[in-house]
Amino acid sequence: MGPVRTRCRHCAVRLATRTSGLCRRCYETPGVRGLYPSPHAGRYARRGELDFFGAAPLPLPTAALPGTAAKVLVLEARAARREQLFHPDDAARPLEERNLEVLAFILLADEEEEL
Ligand SMILES: [Zn+2]
Repeated sequence: MGPVRTRCRHCAVRLATRTSGLCRRCYETPGVRGLYPSPHAGRYARRGELDFFGAAPLPLPTAALPGTAAKVLVLEARAARREQLFHPDDAARPLEERNLEVLAFILLADEEEEL
């Protein structure tokens, strides 16, 4: 069974070839497109901050720890202000904690290999 082909939502004659459910001719007819918003426009519309490139000012350092919801909020705010996302003085988890995590990962990987 091939893909489902549906008729244009406007003329109901030609096949719908646009994500708005319109045929090409209706899609390109002035005024018609606006009557049938694409079903993707809401759910899949671009969200968040626009990407940007180039030199950005350094933000203030944060005490929020990596991987926490608080840090995500900080990153969002920095992006909204078009600042660099990370500051060298941002809080980091203690080295011992990170080493333990790596060690646990290695032990787990070894265990799985033996199975
Ligand atoms: Zn049409």
